[in-house]
Amino acid sequence: MTGRTVIVGAGVAGLTLAERLLAAGNDDETVLVEREESPGGLARTFSTGGFHFDIGPHRFHTADPVVDTYLKHILGTRYITIPRKSSVFMAGRYRNWPLSLASLVGLPAGVLMGSLADMLKKKSRSEVDSFADFIRSRYGDNLYRFFFRGYTRKFAGMDPELMHPDWAEAGVNRAVIDKRVKADTLFSLFIGMLAPKPVHTSFYYPSEGGIQSFCDIQSSMVQRAGGALMTGIPAEGIVQDGGTVRGVTMGGGGVLEADRVFWSAPVSTIFPEAGFSFIHTLVANIGLKSENPANDYQWCYFGQEDLCFSRTTVPRHFRHDTVPKGADSICAEITVTDEDLKNGIEGIQTALIPQLESVGALRQSQVEFVDWKLVRETYPIYDRNYRERLSSIELPKNLTLLGRCGSFWYNNMDHSISQALAFSKGERFERDFWSR
Ligand SMILES: Cc1cc2nc3c(=O)[nH]c(=O)nc-3n(C[C@H](O)[C@H](O)[C@H](O)COP(=O)(O)OP(=O)(O)OC[C@H]3O[C@@H](n4cnc5c(N)ncnc54)[C@H](O)[C@@H]3O)c2cc1C
Repeated sequence: MTGRTVIVGAGVAGLTLAERLLAAGNDDETVLVEREESPGGLARTFSTGGFHFDIGPHRFHTADPVVDTYLKHILGTRYITIPRKSSVFMAGRYRNWPLSLASLVGLPAGVLMGSLADMLKKKSRSEVDSFADFIRSRYGDNLYRFFFRGYTRKFAGMDPELMHPDWAEAGVNRAVIDKRVKADTLFSLFIGMLAPKPVHTSFYYPSEGGIQSFCDIQSSMVQRAGGALMTGIPAEGIVQDGGTVRGVTMGGGGVLEADRVFWSAPVSTIFPEAGFSFIHTLVANIGLKSENPANDYQWCYFGQEDLCFSRTTVPRHFRHDTVPKGADSICAEITVTDEDLKNGIEGIQTALIPQLESVGALRQSQVEFVDWKLVRETYPIYDRNYRERLSSIELPKNLTLLGRCGSFWYNNMDHSISQALAFSKGERFERDFWSR
């Protein structure tokens, strides 16, 4: 490649692509344009007074040896390996995931009996048209109504009947985390509980700072190799001429000329007519004066609709020195729609701490500070016909959509890396990424 490559967005995808293009040394100029003041995108870390908060739980996990090699190329020896411990809060109790027989104690008898009946019921062969259908066909109506319906309505701000089954690929299948844990039907869940297989899943996490350390190393490599990183400036659109992109329009005026553009900012910025929407996450980064031993998980899901948060994360269980000695912290995630933001978030901010106290996640007297951050475009929302709209986009030949928001792909960091590695070699990366 010769000429100027402009990459919009310095998240994991944009940084990986820039780092690889520069390492290959075959383009004249590589420029990264980033809206925020620092790189990292969704893999950013907010650090204050010895506390490091990632945006919810962030850790590296991949089954792809190419991505694994790349992670180690960037991190070198600067990572630790940690075992997973995640949890779900149901019927007033914290329960381990994967579920064990012990974790069923205290679940309403009606739900247990109903689920047993669902498991024994002959499967109907009806079409799976929505996320709700998908869950009912796998786990039965009882579990759908008991957990998935409320959780999804709260999390996505949308009725699961109106959502595409693809939402389950990331939202449910990946929550299983390890393919050896079979949980793809009610029956396999049940077998898994009766005869749990010992599965020791582990993740990589940087040995210093938070997850953003990975992106900081990438940024230094990009700049050392002669790449330009422009931060604190949004790209507002593209300039086209006869089906070819000539440049990127920049916030504050001006056009950055380009011979090719990779776009990892939200696809809705350049194709608003396609009607794609994203939800945002309000994160409450809470510093605690003392340790709360009750929070013995890394992250925990909360399905109850009367709790405003959907997940909490305990950074100390990723690495002990993400908090000052003796202190503790929690990150609570609250997903919000554009409509919620318009209506104001004061109600959420008032409700959060008492609600966290009600589930035993903290005591109000322990709270040292609450640092609120609004992280925009955290999840693409899959309505039932999003696929048709995605494939109807006609891309100029020198424009490539990249990453989670650019490709409208509810993915993980390893997927963004895998896609960027493919693009850096001029390889295609199938639009139908769900098989990955
Ligand atoms: C709460 C949460 C927890 C997660 N946990 C994990 C996990 O444990 N493991 C894992 O592998 N993945 C996890 N993920 C997913 C992971 O964060 C993403 O897959 C990955 O970071 C996406 O990288 P990206 O570069 O594709 O996109 P992004 O990180 O979204 O990068 C896009 C970049 O574009 C910038 N941008 C946006 N608009 C503009 C504009 N107009 N102009 C210029 N720049 C712009 C953004 O600021 C951002 O830096 C999690 C995600 C969330 C939200």
